[in-house]
Amino acid sequence: MPDRSKHTPNHFFAAPRTPPYSSTSKVHFSLKKLPLDGYFSFENIHCAAKDFGNRYHFLPSAVLYPKSVSDISSTIKHIFYMGSTTNLTVAARGHGHSLQGQAQAHQGVVINMKSLQPKMHVHTGQMPFVDVPGGELWINILLETIKYGLAPKSWTDYLHLTVGGTLSNAGISGQAFRHGPQINNVHQLEVVTGKGEVLTCSENQNADLFYGVLGGLGQFGIITQARLSLGPAQKMVKWIRVLYSEFSTFSNDQEHLISSENTFDYIEGFVIINRTGLLNNWRLSFKPKDPIQANQFSSDGKILYCLEVAKYFDPDEIEEVNKKIERLLSELNFIPSTLFLSEVSYVEFLDRVHLSEKKLRAKGLWEVPHPWLNLLIPKSRILDFAKEVFGNILTDNSNGPILIYPVNKSKWNNKTSMVTPAEDIIYLVAFLSSATPSSTGKDGLEHIVTQNQRILDFCDKANLGSKQYLPHYSNQEEWEAHFGPQWETFVQRKSAYDPLAILAPGQRIFQRTI
Ligand code: FAD
Repeated sequence: MPDRSKHTPNHFFAAPRTPPYSSTSKVHFSLKKLPLDGYFSFENIHCAAKDFGNRYHFLPSAVLYPKSVSDISSTIKHIFYMGSTTNLTVAARGHGHSLQGQAQAHQGVVINMKSLQPKMHVHTGQMPFVDVPGGELWINILLETIKYGLAPKSWTDYLHLTVGGTLSNAGISGQAFRHGPQINNVHQLEVVTGKGEVLTCSENQNADLFYGVLGGLGQFGIITQARLSLGPAQKMVKWIRVLYSEFSTFSNDQEHLISSENTFDYIEGFVIINRTGLLNNWRLSFKPKDPIQANQFSSDGKILYCLEVAKYFDPDEIEEVNKKIERLLSELNFIPSTLFLSEVSYVEFLDRVHLSEKKLRAKGLWEVPHPWLNLLIPKSRILDFAKEVFGNILTDNSNGPILIYPVNKSKWNNKTSMVTPAEDIIYLVAFLSSATPSSTGKDGLEHIVTQNQRILDFCDKANLGSKQYLPHYSNQEEWEAHFGPQWETFVQRKSAYDPLAILAPGQRIFQRTI
């Protein structure tokens, strides 16, 4: 048997190749022979060629519905040892909420991670944690851990994403300034490598694999189980929005808030460019503190910046929390008439985007193309970025929200594979656009993609030192530039853990070697 672990994968992307030698029926035959607890489907494969981005559709040969970790291990081992008789690749699919086919495998095998057993197990005590399968949705983890008065500390804005999917990227939301991204709140992982080995890894055991997999874009192994750090669950949330007309005042206040421990529990923000009737929409869930003044405020024709913050509380301590909030707000410089408040349960707050999903689905507006662009911008260049992008490139944001908020990188572990700009404070800027199918206008895919490219071109030209989050590139030079000094380590880890480049072909970083 040749020693395949010595192979170095080619790290360039070409259009997906059709296996020249092994016919589809041969592939099916060889996979069918594998003894599994779960099963392969060779017919129901179209669902695995779709994702939230709705722009890339690569049909696999088969979809594996694993019941056990050994199903995943046997499948990968089988493909690994088939060597040059196949060039099958394998993609783990969480909830398929990628944007550009990252969880797809052209003529390969897609593993439906959500069908993986076993169930979750919550460990209470002084340092509580939960063991979860890699295909578990964050909403289910919340609903399970909250029964014990516990919950994960760091979230994403939307909870219908899987643990394996977000840990392969980072998992960033309004708690990341305090707790770091989700990849910072993991004690241990169980991983199936590209050679089919099942390995446990943590800070103290197989640390190179552990840090490689966290933020590793699925390149080094499939996460079959994760041990997540827990903290106390909360009961209620005061959810607050205030507006600014000056970007620098807004960002100064955001940076001021994230600099202190004694602050809100969630800090985000978004940009509003020339939106009509926006504040009226908010009124369904937010109450203005000063209704008369708020009535006279109009967002039409303006660029506004909305600071969004939240404070968790126990209803028994309402007076105390109100005082804390008043003190925190008194330190800020927002437009006084634009203070909007809401009070919701902890679960409602964390699961807030799901409500929008239901509304959009009902109108047929969820399964449209989503040309999203997510960027990380260093604090020192955020004013230049805002001036050009919000003042010049974009004329409105009617295609979707634009999030913008700073995070404190001192809370982030820099040993993971995730790439960030080299500054202590960085801003996440997320252009979350939806395109109207077959429109050729300003709400069409082409227009939005062109606008995204203008933003990327500006970042390059102005040398902002920005990085893409949920990165997407089409050639090796761009990936190398993205990883910068971390590229060599990334390539070394690929050679060590997935030497034939079988895993996560949809990221288009490495091409399968035979
Ligand atoms: P998939 O799309 O299924 O997979 C993503 C990648 O991870 C693929 O390469 C796949 O092969 C790999 N992968 C999947 N499972 C595993 C596994 N078990 N082991 C190894 N690799 C695996 N991100 C944030 O950080 N913050 C947010 O607030 C946020 N909000 C979002 C809101 C919406 C509505 C959507 C659609 C996305 C949002 N995201 C956010 C982005 C999200 O984190 C990524 O798209 C993530 O990849 C989606 O998770 P998924 O489970 O659907 O993964």
